[in-house]
Amino acid sequence: MQQRLAILGSTGSIGCSTLDVVRTHPTKYCVAALTANSQVDKLLTQCIEFKPQFVVLSDYSKIAYLIEQLKLHNVATTVLAGDDLADIAEIANADIVMSAIVGSSGLLPTYKAALAGKKILLANKESLVAGGKLIREALAQNPKAKLIPVDSEHSAIFQALPDDFVSSNDSNNHSINKIILTASGGPFRCFTKDELMDVTPEMAVMHPNWTMGKKISVDSSTLMNKGLEVIEAYWLFGVGLDKLEVVVHPQSIIHSMVEYIDGSVIAQLGAPDMKTPISYALAHPNRITSGSPKLDFTQLSSLTFDKPDYAKFPCLELAFTALKVGGAIPAVLNAANEVAVAAFLEHKITFYDIPRLIESSMNYFNCADYNSIDEVMEIDVSARNYVGGLI
Ligand code: NAD
Ligand code: MG
Repeated sequence: MQQRLAILGSTGSIGCSTLDVVRTHPTKYCVAALTANSQVDKLLTQCIEFKPQFVVLSDYSKIAYLIEQLKLHNVATTVLAGDDLADIAEIANADIVMSAIVGSSGLLPTYKAALAGKKILLANKESLVAGGKLIREALAQNPKAKLIPVDSEHSAIFQALPDDFVSSNDSNNHSINKIILTASGGPFRCFTKDELMDVTPEMAVMHPNWTMGKKISVDSSTLMNKGLEVIEAYWLFGVGLDKLEVVVHPQSIIHSMVEYIDGSVIAQLGAPDMKTPISYALAHPNRITSGSPKLDFTQLSSLTFDKPDYAKFPCLELAFTALKVGGAIPAVLNAANEVAVAAFLEHKITFYDIPRLIESSMNYFNCADYNSIDEVMEIDVSARNYVGGLI
């Protein structure tokens, strides 16, 4: 029987790659819902091809146009406004939810999908960074809910962990010594600190190995992406901070590794193509074809490894600090980063203003904590306003 899929952020890089995979497995998956922020023509093309029962378009000014175009093309999709985004998994009666919105706007729909007991494929790392504690609580409340990582590093770790892994705090899993996240090092890996003072957003979005949305591309250039991924790993795998390590691996062939107490290291390898982790998450616990290119080991000249340069890329250290401090500080770090990256993309601030603004926010909100989804969303807004003011 076909499984019903809701794709949150279908017009983005992960959303489109998910549809690429789904297109090749029409008997396994049907598209129950798609959501987008404002790219109405792309959403329309997706509706014509995949005929979802529902779409959510957050940009209210384009809804009338979408309804009219769907009618013209004889597509019987119901168009909903942004208010319904949080509940779309329930509304569409989805079995599987691809959480691929960028930023903390993905938190509420991901949280609600967990409460509703859905199988969640998580690309939206920011939701775990901001509200990891609540998402874990929601998953615990509804045993039907599952959270499968899509981020390539976390998919690799998930694949390298034992099948019965719960968390390394669990007595059965003391055998895990370390989780090693690999980082490409981004487009500025070989730049000096002086050269980094003058880098532009156009340079920052040119990632050497991956094609991604602009925000995550800038995050990769500052190494904040790896920082967010350390926090993501903390909430996904329940391991202590002392067991999380970052290694720079510029070729992006090893996507991450798990080191066991006997010295064995299990790594997952593959071409840098998100269709592999997306397919793995979709089909889990089975496997399906992904359309990703296969590795040709005879063509790989070398696989190299290095320590991250924390002085050149202070965002990585800030993320470790946020996780150590805990409470709502990771949510503050995330919100500040989102606003700073948007300002950098608009040429309003420089590359090194990004960590400066994040650090100021973390200091300003130093005791912040949260116990509910409303509280964490309020802190997110406050941190955004604070950084906006500084800019
Ligand atoms: P993207 O910018 O290409 O797409 C983002 C999607 O989110 C779009 O469909 C957009 O319409 C939607 N969106 C943006 N703001 C929204 C809002 N306020 N409300 C509702 N919808 C909104 O981003 P991406 O590269 O596909 O990344 C998506 C997520 O996946 C991010 O969290 C990113 O960190 C994560 N991720 C991406 C990759 C990758 O290769 N692109 C890899 C790993 C993880
Ligand atoms: Mg990643």
